[in-house]
Amino acid sequence: DGVLTSAQDLEPHVVDWRQRFRRRAQAVVLPRSTAEVAQVVALCGRHRVPVVPQGGNTGQSGGSIPLAGQDDSVIVCLRRMNRVLGIDVDNNAMAVQAGCVLQTLQEQAAAVGRFFPLSLGAEGSCQIGGNLATNAGGTAVLRYGNARDLVLGLEVVLADGQVWDGMRALRKDNSGFDLKGLFLGSEGTLGIITGAVLKLFSPPGQQAVAWVAVSSLRQAVGLLSMCRDTLDTRLSAFEYLSRAQVDLVLRHVPGHVDPLPVAAAGYVLVELSDASRGGQITEVLHTVLGRALESGLALDVALASNERQAQAFWRIRHSVSEANRAHGVSLNHDVSVPTSRVAEFVERATAHLQQAHPQAQVIVVSHLGDGNVHFLAIFPREFWAALPDAAAHATAVRQGVYDLAMACGGSFSAEHGVGQMLTGEVTRYKSAAELDLLRRVKHALDPAGLLNPGKVLPC
Ligand code: FAD
Repeated sequence: DGVLTSAQDLEPHVVDWRQRFRRRAQAVVLPRSTAEVAQVVALCGRHRVPVVPQGGNTGQSGGSIPLAGQDDSVIVCLRRMNRVLGIDVDNNAMAVQAGCVLQTLQEQAAAVGRFFPLSLGAEGSCQIGGNLATNAGGTAVLRYGNARDLVLGLEVVLADGQVWDGMRALRKDNSGFDLKGLFLGSEGTLGIITGAVLKLFSPPGQQAVAWVAVSSLRQAVGLLSMCRDTLDTRLSAFEYLSRAQVDLVLRHVPGHVDPLPVAAAGYVLVELSDASRGGQITEVLHTVLGRALESGLALDVALASNERQAQAFWRIRHSVSEANRAHGVSLNHDVSVPTSRVAEFVERATAHLQQAHPQAQVIVVSHLGDGNVHFLAIFPREFWAALPDAAAHATAVRQGVYDLAMACGGSFSAEHGVGQMLTGEVTRYKSAAELDLLRRVKHALDPAGLLNPGKVLPC
């Protein structure tokens, strides 16, 4: 009962979330244990069959879908490995199987009075194995770091079917190379993550959330600096949405209300968290944002007066993918630049698109506190359908934007990974020395090249 082969059963596994890649596979296997994963990988190795690890299939770069022409691929989907193995409250750690859905882990941690901070729009369906394999970011990076920073130990099935048991729950362990660091963010190209020991934290005793109108992205960056200076680690999220992005959410996703009547260039969702239960955090945010209004760093502020309102603000942020997908053909550039250069990048990239691709609507949504910009070019469906070569058009748009991100000292992939979508960019932008290192690591761990071939590095 753990092997799917019919076209109907395979369908949800061979198309990515954005429906950009529709491919074939000979089977999907659904192991229940690490030993079963190891047997599958070893068997595929013996028969030289490509293995594609898959979690919730919410990835944005086509990493969890086989490559074109590799129809004999076997997809290893970890959804049945979904048990929490144990929570050690005193050690602030939780041992889990890789197929656990992220939201379930947040809930399980909360049930014992602990907090697992990783949070992103797909948390209801993405799996922790996929989060770790992509080194997911999300909305809590500013305070808690990326997925990589939340891991104490890992269990991995290696390319030859061996199991590396690194499920240690230690905060200090200098007894060799950081092997887990190799697998985190490697997108299933070096091994299949089957288990992890995750860091837990004290839950925020109090939180305050505000929706702030700003006149420009430059102003938003100024506000970020001010908030960092005054709030330090209590600043737990700082998310930016352009006005055009908010308009798309209001238009395409039912149930939202515009938090502020003022039409502004953009909005910042600011969140403060504090482990103590003093009850003054809303006043702190009120004071800081009052100062921002006085000094011209904000146009208007809506401070959430209760939990329901705070959630309504967050729901706008979490609805952007759904809204953009409904609006047209969207090319999402998930780039990062130093926060001090975010405004420069967005201004240059917007000017470039307006000149080179005037049909595109520019949308900006950003984990601004991390310097991570989702710079979207959304094209009308009719325009896109009439293009003689849509793939070439997409490549031209992408290259223009990525060139500018790189020119601003950035990266062409901040949190969505490389998958099969950005391997060309890896060869284009990485130095010869870095490419050589990447290839040597891949060859050392997967000499036959059967683990998620053509992802991260071209075949
Ligand atoms: P998949 O999509 O199934 O796989 C992703 C990659 O990981 C593939 O290369 C796959 O081969 C590999 N993989 C999966 N499981 C394993 C495993 N057990 N062992 C080894 N390799 C494995 N991402 C962010 O970083 N931040 C965001 O804010 C964010 N917001 C999102 C919002 C929405 C609405 C959506 C749809 C996606 C969003 N994403 C975001 C992208 C995506 O959710 C993340 O990349 C997530 O970590 C992928 O998890 P998954 O289980 O769906 O992995």
